Amino acid sequence: MAHDEPRATGPTKLVIRNIALVLSGALERPILDADTIVAVNGKITGVGRARDLDTEGATTIVDANGTTVAPGLIDSHVHPVAGDWTPRQNQIGWIDSFLHGGVTTMISAGEVHMPGRPRDVVGLKAMAIFAQRAFWTLRPGGVKVHAGAPVIECEMVEDDFREMAAAGVKLLGEVGLGGVKDGPTARKMVGWARKYGIQSTIHTGGPSIPGSGLIDKDVVLEADTDVVGHINGGHTALPDDQIRCICEGCKRGLELVHNGNERAALFTLRTARDMDELGRIILGTDAPAGSGVQPLGILRMVSMLSSLGDIPAEIAFCFATGNTARMRALDCGLIEVGRAADFVLMDKAQHSAGKNLLDSVRLGDLPGVGMTIIDGIVRTQRSRNTPPATKVPEIVAVR
Ligand SMILES: [Zn+2]
Repeated sequence: MAHDEPRATGPTKLVIRNIALVLSGALERPILDADTIVAVNGKITGVGRARDLDTEGATTIVDANGTTVAPGLIDSHVHPVAGDWTPRQNQIGWIDSFLHGGVTTMISAGEVHMPGRPRDVVGLKAMAIFAQRAFWTLRPGGVKVHAGAPVIECEMVEDDFREMAAAGVKLLGEVGLGGVKDGPTARKMVGWARKYGIQSTIHTGGPSIPGSGLIDKDVVLEADTDVVGHINGGHTALPDDQIRCICEGCKRGLELVHNGNERAALFTLRTARDMDELGRIILGTDAPAGSGVQPLGILRMVSMLSSLGDIPAEIAFCFATGNTARMRALDCGLIEVGRAADFVLMDKAQHSAGKNLLDSVRLGDLPGVGMTIIDGIVRTQRSRNTPPATKVPEIVAVR
């Protein structure tokens, strides 16, 4: 289990060459005309043709060997607890397993599975600050886990949000998983959170496990969180007419999760496409959960939405990269100069009926992951979890 992330000990320069296809993560231009990417000290400094870029003095050279490079995938909805252990299904190494599924960044929707989770205000604030610190200090496998997402309770006052923000808390856990389940209280507290720069999300749909509750369209629209968390249910979805009301009644992020209702996810996707608002679609797993831990969950969502939702694969990848990065103001998720050098290198799986990576995803197959890179450092080579990629990249030189 990779608990100690590799760290650069000096200046680094990464050159990835011989790339067949670069997926940008940006909906407006999902495919770039490029065969080479250069990154210095963990940030992208060049994307284009090898002859036009400064590739001298590389500390690491990766031969992509004709594979596809995409931004590292972002899971917009996870429930971490402590390091790389989850008590929900009593597994260790789950974050490292997601890295093998191409996920390089995760966003906590609340550390709700913490055994003995405190629900008093002092306790929940302390836990949020602890989780933010702990996950920023320890990155399992190098994965960036944005955690410290408190679940709001009715006794909270504005000063609690100011205090948490000053201590580094940037996220709220799913509204509705705590005592606040009514629209007016949720709206007031979400407003306080926003005032102090804390992003918010909400549990949409029926209860996920015994003890959680129903959040319907009226509460979702009144709460006005930045992200409509699992609009396709977690797992129980709202009726289609309520999902349509939410899509049309706000401009917030529409999050589709693996551990939700797949039919409702496709309904949301079609609704957003009809509205010409695919930029609002972001993806999560909602793992760990009652339905388990899915290292390939984000890839499975990309493939499911592309194949059954009739969406070009290069667009579906944007839902798990650039859309999320923009909505959540992350420095990764897009292949452009200045962004974090977080990448996943993929090819079509061996024996896929698709003629190339994009075609295979469009046919519903999963890609084979050949390498992951975070902050310009190679973290994994051939994935232990995906079907084997037809072609795999290799490290040809390290200095
Ligand atoms: Zn939920």
